[in-house]
Amino acid sequence: MKCPNCKLENPPTALTCDCGFFFGNDSQRASAYRVAVPATVAPDRFPIRALGTVMIILGMIICLFFILIYEPSVPAVDAGKRIFNSGLLQNQQNGLIFGLGISILGALILLYGKE
Ligand SMILES: [Zn+2]
Repeated sequence: MKCPNCKLENPPTALTCDCGFFFGNDSQRASAYRVAVPATVAPDRFPIRALGTVMIILGMIICLFFILIYEPSVPAVDAGKRIFNSGLLQNQQNGLIFGLGISILGALILLYGKE
């Protein structure tokens, strides 16, 4: 099969010539084009699953901070004793709820977020 474009001799089974000339009909050309150009170029989309993962980790860190590091008690006047400050306890509780909320939100994003 001689290419009408570049006059190169091609095997009879060849669909395209080295020069890019297509020997088949239009529908073959269309399918060959689809094969030749696969949809590998992913559209720019928001990394929703990464966001969910980050939110879970962030929420856990916030929770851990308020459990392990945050100190809701203050030194009492009596040496060696500590009393819990209700305002600080409230802060700790709010912080835990906040961290937990972020974690749950992240988990929901992971569960329902479309990849
Ligand atoms: Zn050719």
